[in-house]
Amino acid sequence: MSGERPLGSERRAVSQLGPELLEQDLTRGSGGNVSVRNGDRFAISPSGISYEEITSEMVPVVDLEGTLVSGEYEPSNEMPMHRLIYEHRDDVGGVVHTHSPYASTFASLGEAIPASHYLIAYAGKEIPVAGYEPPGTEALGELAVDALGADHDACLLQNHGVIAVGEDGAAALETAVMVEYCARIHYQASAIGDPVIMDDDDLEYLLEMFGTYRQKGK
Ligand code: 13P
Ligand code: ZN
Repeated sequence: MSGERPLGSERRAVSQLGPELLEQDLTRGSGGNVSVRNGDRFAISPSGISYEEITSEMVPVVDLEGTLVSGEYEPSNEMPMHRLIYEHRDDVGGVVHTHSPYASTFASLGEAIPASHYLIAYAGKEIPVAGYEPPGTEALGELAVDALGADHDACLLQNHGVIAVGEDGAAALETAVMVEYCARIHYQASAIGDPVIMDDDDLEYLLEMFGTYRQKGK
């Protein structure tokens, strides 16, 4: 492919976010994937390549129909799930998929993570679970879109891992980190007692507070 490649800053963001998944213990090897959107196209991590090796030049660009626009590497096999999320959520500019261990533990139980820690508000009032479909399928993407709905910025994928979304790649990564933290706290609290689950009024307050807090942070 000749000439200047599109979405330079989004491809750079993908290449920089990938190693963070390993550094923050959110995955192993080349597991998981990352994408960053600009309008009706998105840059997404190439399939099966370890994050340390991925340069911005290697990052494929795909349109919202799922057609490869630019790049020589095969896009992540979860491209259909990323595509469907962008199609259904105009507010989303970045998607991070992880296999983080505590959250994946609840995913393997098919159990949503309830509000036992206030940082759940990064994701919503709970972290719901999308049922099982094989990795890389449209069917998995459809289940993730349903579980996220309009009100959740993260969900579990049963027997698999986590999807986190945000206004850009960095926000999606931050939510993925908070999901893993909340999963760990809920696991630990459940191991020694019965976690207190926050009530709806408190959660509404937090969601409001987080909305304002995030805007202030811009
Ligand atoms: P890719 O390497 O194709 O992105 O797949 C990793 C993964 O986590 C599949 O669910
Ligand atoms: Zn995966």
